[in-house]
Amino acid sequence: MKYVVIRDDDTCLFTKPEMLELLYQPLLEAGKSVGLSVVPAIGGGQPAGVLNGPFWEQFRLDYSPCLPPHRRAEAQIFPLTPDCEIVRYLRSRPGYEIVQHGYNHITINGVREGMLKETQLITEKIETSRTILKECFGQTSDFFVVPWDDLSAETLRILRCYFKGISLHRLGKRHVSWPRKAKAVARRFLNDQNRTPYLRDGDFLLLEYPGPILSMFNDFGMMKTQIVDFLATHDVLVLVSHYWEYFWDWDEPNQEFLSAWHDIVAYLLDRPDVEIVSFSSLYNHLYS
Ligand SMILES: [Zn+2]
Repeated sequence: MKYVVIRDDDTCLFTKPEMLELLYQPLLEAGKSVGLSVVPAIGGGQPAGVLNGPFWEQFRLDYSPCLPPHRRAEAQIFPLTPDCEIVRYLRSRPGYEIVQHGYNHITINGVREGMLKETQLITEKIETSRTILKECFGQTSDFFVVPWDDLSAETLRILRCYFKGISLHRLGKRHVSWPRKAKAVARRFLNDQNRTPYLRDGDFLLLEYPGPILSMFNDFGMMKTQIVDFLATHDVLVLVSHYWEYFWDWDEPNQEFLSAWHDIVAYLLDRPDVEIVSFSSLYNHLYS
């Protein structure tokens, strides 16, 4: 069996329920899980730059695109609250697995929040985030989705105390403990088609994902082919998407992108050798 986790990033106080509903209704109606990577208290006023990849290169945005345009410049923190629209929607709609996506999704003095080294600050941010998630959803998350895909050793050491695993783009030697370092180094010499996209480091699971397949900058006609090719040589796929890219720029849905996505969903649901699972159930499969 091949396991696919759908991971959608950047849900926050500003996410409109209808955006997620439009994307994920077919999966939810089929009884499948969608891993929603939620920012507990997103920060505005974040200047855009090279970290924003093609959004910076192509649009030269002033501020980070994962907030709506009219809120991007506001330099403040926007925590989720138990009675806000998106939290009420998520609580009422079974099928979403809430995973934690950073704390504020910001840089601090130019440092990505995952790269912080001050252990007291990291612990405070994790504790505050967990309090918010507990108040909103009645529980904390077992998995952490790394903003901008990298972590300091200090952050990773603390995350291991709170979470069962992390999801990021590329695993490196610095992400694993000593007994696993040789294995992590050996992976460097394997190309995408030959790398096992996860590593079990004791009871801590590190999951890789292939590049931005579901992207508004990709050729929509090629997305399914890339997924088919990846599944031909892998048994685990974390498929990453950013809901707001389907509505660029926080406006009408891009029908071509949306229908390519729904075609992929139908394909995955139809494949008898593919199971769409949550992060938690993938963890249980990999450790059973
Ligand atoms: Zn993000």
